Amino acid sequence: MSFSFYSSLFSFPSVSLQFRVCSSRQLRVHLVITPMIVPSSFAKIVAMPGVVFPLLLQHRSTSTFSAIELRINSLQSSSLSTAYSKQKQSLRADLALPGQKNLFDATPLDICRFLVFKDSKGKTQVHKAGCLHLGQRGIFSCQCPLRLAYSTVDSYIGKLRSIFSDIGRQGDWNRTLLLGNAASDLLVKQYLKEVTAEQLRARITPKQAVPLFPDKLLSLSRHLEKRLLLPSLSPAEIFITARDQAFFKALFFSGDRGGDLGQVKTSELARFPDDNGFLFNHVWGKTLRDGASNLFGMHRHPHPTLCPIRAIESYGAIARELRISLSCGYLFRSTNPQGHIVDTPF
Ligand SMILES: [Zn+2]
Repeated sequence: MSFSFYSSLFSFPSVSLQFRVCSSRQLRVHLVITPMIVPSSFAKIVAMPGVVFPLLLQHRSTSTFSAIELRINSLQSSSLSTAYSKQKQSLRADLALPGQKNLFDATPLDICRFLVFKDSKGKTQVHKAGCLHLGQRGIFSCQCPLRLAYSTVDSYIGKLRSIFSDIGRQGDWNRTLLLGNAASDLLVKQYLKEVTAEQLRARITPKQAVPLFPDKLLSLSRHLEKRLLLPSLSPAEIFITARDQAFFKALFFSGDRGGDLGQVKTSELARFPDDNGFLFNHVWGKTLRDGASNLFGMHRHPHPTLCPIRAIESYGAIARELRISLSCGYLFRSTNPQGHIVDTPF
């Protein structure tokens, strides 16, 4: 049994104290901070007489607060728009904990149960000893169970640890006090170890990315070139095809991580003096979070269909024709669910 209430000790709508009494009769107090409503809270607090926030009182013009709100919203949306963050949000939405438990009550055993539940969406068939398909890839009619690949389980556990950390459940799991990060407990680590061992015994190895050879890139480029000539393409489809054409070739010749190349800004590109290529001075990405820059050059390729420079130039020309300016912001633009081209990383 548990109950909770939100104290009104603070006249600060984004901060609340949450008291919980759990089945183990332990009282847990959580300080719950809801950052999403911080900006509007600032305005309300400052407008309240008797609440002293000298720094904010000095600058309480509406435009200042709007600017603060815009800045905070922009930082929040930037941090929420990363692929990792989106995967975390999706996992959190999926987080069906048994017994009406929530993130504050969950124990390591609940996490293991959740991971078993997620197995129902697994696509890795774990063959039993003696099965004819042992060691073969694919899904067969042998009735051996489908599970999540152990690498996926590992990745889920990492995201779950981060989800608990985000809500204030940090640190090692304390089995006596039932406090800490439930996903970091030994029980969860043991679960991953057993799942990994089971799959290795069934001779399952992680799938490797299929390498892309020049002949494949040539076929892909020809396919995209043909597609660009189709009269039925909408302006957005023309933009996307030209962008993909440029992106794949740049990726192939740079060897850059897809995510990092998607983060490249147009201003980070410079032409070689002899116009024989581009210099990329890229600073931010999954592999470059320490602020180091990733300086690399890309030359023109003698084969026009494979040439990344020609593809980027053609992409820029098509964007200009469509009146989409690439000069500020990301070089490779993505589209939103409505199909509009937006200045967010690809
Ligand atoms: Zn089997």
